[in-house]
Amino acid sequence: MKHQEPPLLEHVEALLAEPANRDHPLHDALERLFHHHLEQQDRLERLISIADGFQQSAHADLNSTRDQLERQLKRQRKLSRIADRYQSLLRERNLALKAASAVDPLTGLANRRRLHEQLEQLTATSSRHHRPFTLAMVDIDHFKRVNDYHGHGVGDRALEILASTLQDSLRASDHCGRWGGEEFLLLLPETPLPQATSLMERLGERLRGLKIPVEANIKITLTASIGVAEHRPEDDIQATIQRADQALLAAKREGRDRWRAAE
Ligand code: GH3
Ligand code: MG
Ligand code: MG
Repeated sequence: MKHQEPPLLEHVEALLAEPANRDHPLHDALERLFHHHLEQQDRLERLISIADGFQQSAHADLNSTRDQLERQLKRQRKLSRIADRYQSLLRERNLALKAASAVDPLTGLANRRRLHEQLEQLTATSSRHHRPFTLAMVDIDHFKRVNDYHGHGVGDRALEILASTLQDSLRASDHCGRWGGEEFLLLLPETPLPQATSLMERLGERLRGLKIPVEANIKITLTASIGVAEHRPEDDIQATIQRADQALLAAKREGRDRWRAAE
């Protein structure tokens, strides 16, 4: 850093350079003082430049630390965004998995596992409110023949059509699921047996009216047998299911395509 020469220094320098002043008694002393001053000034400028250098490097250090910190912060924010996304993805997957584990893949109805959960809930509610509900076991008649005569593909299609017909015939608060192979379980909450009979009649009719496509212009019909049982609050649910099974067997024995109620 160059300082502007103060007028005093220029004046002293000019006085020292003046030949007429050479022999002045103060000339030597003034000349030494002048040089001493110049040296001091030079040293001061060097010190200032060192201090400037220090300040600059401290400033640069501070900047680079701040940059590092900002980069780290950015990285951390990015990581936490990724973690958030993974977490919500995981939540969605879990929900989808849970939903899939409760659904029968062919018919889209509740599977047996889900039906057990629904039975448990219904039984608990029934005991708590001292109110009965009704369950119905639906089994397609001579379904093996459908597979044997028309192939498994037609059998599958028949199961899909029957499943959606059952589902469409129920109230929103009722449940319908695939109990196994060609058997379906209907759960009718808050419904005593006498109130379920008209639904059974209606179901029989609708199933009889179904047309299952076999090939172009060829359709087959099918029928089902139904065993119905009322679950009373004090009953054991396994016993109720057994009673419905017995009623279903009775319907089969009596010639199929009908519903029978358990004692
Ligand atoms: P019943 O009137 O006594 O009930 O006779 P059924 O032939 O319906 O009963 P059975 O228990 O002898 O046969 C049931 C058939 O259901 C046999 C099995 O191959 C068929 N089935 C079970 N699950 C499926 C499925 O997912 N798809 C197809 N296409 N058939 C199935
Ligand atoms: Mg069966
Ligand atoms: Mg059957």
